[in-house]
Formats: sequence, C-alpha cells, structure tokens
Amino acid sequence: SKRQYRWQRVLLKVSGEALAGDHTENIDPNVTMAIAREVASVTKLGVEVAIVVGGGNIFRGATRAGCSGLDRSSADYIGMLATVMNAIFLQATMESIGIPTRVQTAFRMSEVAEPYIRRRAVRHLEKGRVVIFAAGTGNPFFTTDTAAALRCAESSRQLQVMKLTRAKLDVSYLASLRISGDEFNAEVVLKATNVDGVYDADPKHNPNASLLETVSYHEVTSRDLSVMDMTAITLCQENNIPVVVFNLQKAGNIAKAIIGEKVGTFIGC
Ligand code: UDP
Repeated sequence: SKRQYRWQRVLLKVSGEALAGDHTENIDPNVTMAIAREVASVTKLGVEVAIVVGGGNIFRGATRAGCSGLDRSSADYIGMLATVMNAIFLQATMESIGIPTRVQTAFRMSEVAEPYIRRRAVRHLEKGRVVIFAAGTGNPFFTTDTAAALRCAESSRQLQVMKLTRAKLDVSYLASLRISGDEFNAEVVLKATNVDGVYDADPKHNPNASLLETVSYHEVTSRDLSVMDMTAITLCQENNIPVVVFNLQKAGNIAKAIIGEKVGTFIGC
C-alpha cells in the first residue's frame, strides 16, 4: 500500500546542469531517459511526482545580463524560456515510456503547454500524472529553486491538513478521511544535482570537506552553504518544507529520494 512510503507527493527539482550530463550538447538524452525510468518506477507505487526543471544548461540570466545591452529582465525571460525547452524534452521522454505527463508554464504559451493552474496541477497529480512546471516563477530575478519551493508550498497537502487540525478535528476524524499520521509529512523538495549533497566546505577547494547528513535551514543560511539561493531556502523554512539534496548521476538515487530512503543531505528545522 501507499502507507509504507514517507512521501506521498514530492517536488523533484532537476537543474539544467544535471540535464546536460556529459553531453556536449545542452541536453543529454541518456539523462532524461534515466530520470523518466526512475520516476516511472515510483509513480507505479502511487507516489505523486511534480517536477520543476531549471534552464542553466541553456541560458542563465544573471551571467548573461549586460552583454550587448541585454538587460537583466530580458535575460531572465530568455532563461525562463530555456526551462520550457527542457520541460518539453523531458515530457516527450516520459511519455515515450508510458508516463502520462503534463507541462504547465508560469506564463502563457498555450500552443505548447497548459498554463499553470494550481488546482488543475493538483488534480493531475491525483490522477497519477506527472506535472512538469516550466518557466520558473514567471518573474525575472527569481530562480527555478524558488519556483520549486513555491510550487511545493502551493500543492501541499500538509498545509491543508494543518488547517483541518486547527479547526479542532480529532484523530479519528482524520482517520476517517484516511489521512494517516505519516501522510502529514507528504511534502518535500528533492533537489537533484551533480554533487552528493551539502558539504561543510567546498569539496573542490578543500580535500577535507565532508558530506553533511542533516543540516538545519539556519545552518544553510548562516554558514552560507551554497545549496539553494537565499529566497528559495527561506521560503522552504517559512513553510516547513524539508529539502533533500542528492546526486542525480548515481543510478537509483532519484527513486530512493522519492520513496524516502536515506540519500544525500536532509535539510529541515
Ligand atoms: N529564471 C527567472 N525566474 C524564475 C526562474 C528562472 O528569471 O522564476 C531565469 C533566470 O535567468 C535563470 C534561468 O531562468 O538563470 C534558468 O533557471 P535556473 O538558473 O534556476 O536553472 P538551474 O540553475 O536549475 O539550471
């Protein structure tokens, strides 16, 4: 049954860099296929999966702004469009192996994908479809990590349950709604990257850097452990969204992270 899994609904963040793999071009089809296969293995078990894709493999606004008069906002819109390309590639790969998938964009591109409609996205998830969120938050000056935190918060069952409990509902009533204790922790951002997790120092520069198994939000921000940008991590903190940072290049890791096995670094309170 579903109950043995820690997460019922997850938000998987796939960075553009991860999609590039070792390929000389922007997107490595072996990577998209590996992601699709692992996601398929867990959706079969009933875990609901939403994905936010980055775009750094194609275009990053912050690093390109300033060239030939390109202003930051325009650069960021190009970056957001890059995420749409990744999303459509990933969708096509997933559907080729039979995973029903919808892409929703943060700004309208109606001929290409659905617009983001929160309740519709949740409905897709409930029907067992994978929803890929593209175009980040739809706003320049943000990142797809922030989009991941935002979409996770927005589709959270946890928040709905919290509201119910505050309205004096007792355990037996919750049980009758078939909301079991372990489903209270149904939401998480799983950040797939090219590193094993969060280190206490930069492993590229410090050979003694060690991987942290768990770390608090506070430590991430106060020690400036470069995991996510500040906006994204504080959004997770304020909404009690745990984050698991793990290496996408190791086979089986995505599936492990989704079903809640120990992998990479766990960030929480
Ligand atoms: N971007 C943006 N607003 C958002 C999300 C993304 O303007 O809400 C732009 C920004 O220019 C960013 C680019 O899209 O550099 C690609 O996203 P990101 O860098 O987050 O991708 P990743 O690092 O995950 O590959």
